Amino acid sequence: MNTFVRCGSLFTGREDEAQTAGMLVFDRDGRLTYVGAEAGAPRRTKNDRLIDHSVHFVMPGLIDVHTHLAYGNAKSEEDIDLYSPLEFRALRGMFFAQKVAAAGYTAICSPGDAGQISLSIRDAIRAGLFDGPRVMAAGPYLTTHQGLTDWYPTWIGAPETSIGKLVTNIDEAVEEVRRQVKNGVDCIKLALDGIQRRPDGELIAAFTQEETDIITRESHRLGRKVISHSVGREATLYAARAGVDLIFHGFDLDEECIAAMLQSGSFLCPTLTHPRNLIDFTQPHEPAAQKGRVEVTERRYRLGVANLKKAKAAGVPFLPGTDTGFAITPYGEWHARELELFVEDLGFTPAAALRATTEAAGRFMTSAGEIGVLEPGHAADFIALDGSPLADIGILQDRSRLRAVYIAGKEFRVADRPYDPRRVTDFALTNWTDLYTQARVAELGARPRRLAAE
Ligand SMILES: [Zn+2]
Repeated sequence: MNTFVRCGSLFTGREDEAQTAGMLVFDRDGRLTYVGAEAGAPRRTKNDRLIDHSVHFVMPGLIDVHTHLAYGNAKSEEDIDLYSPLEFRALRGMFFAQKVAAAGYTAICSPGDAGQISLSIRDAIRAGLFDGPRVMAAGPYLTTHQGLTDWYPTWIGAPETSIGKLVTNIDEAVEEVRRQVKNGVDCIKLALDGIQRRPDGELIAAFTQEETDIITRESHRLGRKVISHSVGREATLYAARAGVDLIFHGFDLDEECIAAMLQSGSFLCPTLTHPRNLIDFTQPHEPAAQKGRVEVTERRYRLGVANLKKAKAAGVPFLPGTDTGFAITPYGEWHARELELFVEDLGFTPAAALRATTEAAGRFMTSAGEIGVLEPGHAADFIALDGSPLADIGILQDRSRLRAVYIAGKEFRVADRPYDPRRVTDFALTNWTDLYTQARVAELGARPRRLAAE
């Protein structure tokens, strides 16, 4: 039995335009056998099935290369690392992976998490235990005492349940790469940004160039990709020179970084959604606002976008990713905002943004050659929309426009189950975010009450 899909508009990911009156045909294994004009399609027999999307825009399933399945819509780093057992996080992660797929994202890269959460979710979906997106999984970030994800004082260290795996020398780093590969990761995540700044404000990388080279080389030797967290110029440069496959952020990049990225062929995932959501949605009472993070983020965002535009103009390939998994970027909600920001802030055409999240992202993923474009031999991972994102990229964020999601030819449906967010995450012990001095209390107009005994 084959399945025929009538498409009002068909966007394959290979071209900038959509063709009208298209047809997809896929076999019982969910593999495409025909993609093209309805007029040229093979003849349908009586055993074949017909799905009618003749009033819809059909395109490849969307891909987000920066979605953290282990974070659970976290409100703080402690929330990510400490308070819930890995087993609970895995169950929670599966629930949220399904929410992401329901938003039209048929494949995601989960770049850095605690334990073996994302790869367990990946394997459970692959084994057919659950419906869900295709997952490309990393293990914990490799970090040093100078790196992001080694948040806690040295007398605490990086706990086993943390997303950071602290390595204190290059031998430990190589050992950790081998351990993670043995356990089945698809990629190695490096916390390449450091925590110290030079007097001029530049971030000092957490690893040296030589260490970055060795870790990347060993990962590649074992057939795995490498992803780095690199906001700083130095971390971006080291990653690009080492041949890291995907660089996150890159906000402080310069001409030297661009040249190195072009040479290595590294993809760049700027991840605009997280900072933009932080800037746009953080309320004044939130600790992030109280600490001045909104202003700082906005300033860095403006500078970052100017640098990123230079990289785009030079031909560095960009991939959309959102840093989903925080309270400011909950699962299944904002993935497609990245595409709108690619258009609005980086100057992509809608077609280029769509091709970045399909064709280009598909090339990066473990399932490269199977996903990202609709053509014979590829998986029948596609979505059907009411309206054209080529005319208005914003409709991808409007769930009422998303009519169907298919993964390997099977329609993905999941009940929109409400849940209690307080029992899912936010177990941190913080009780107050203000300091109640006499002066502050007077300023607030709060008054001690008389609590007389009955
Ligand atoms: Zn991230």
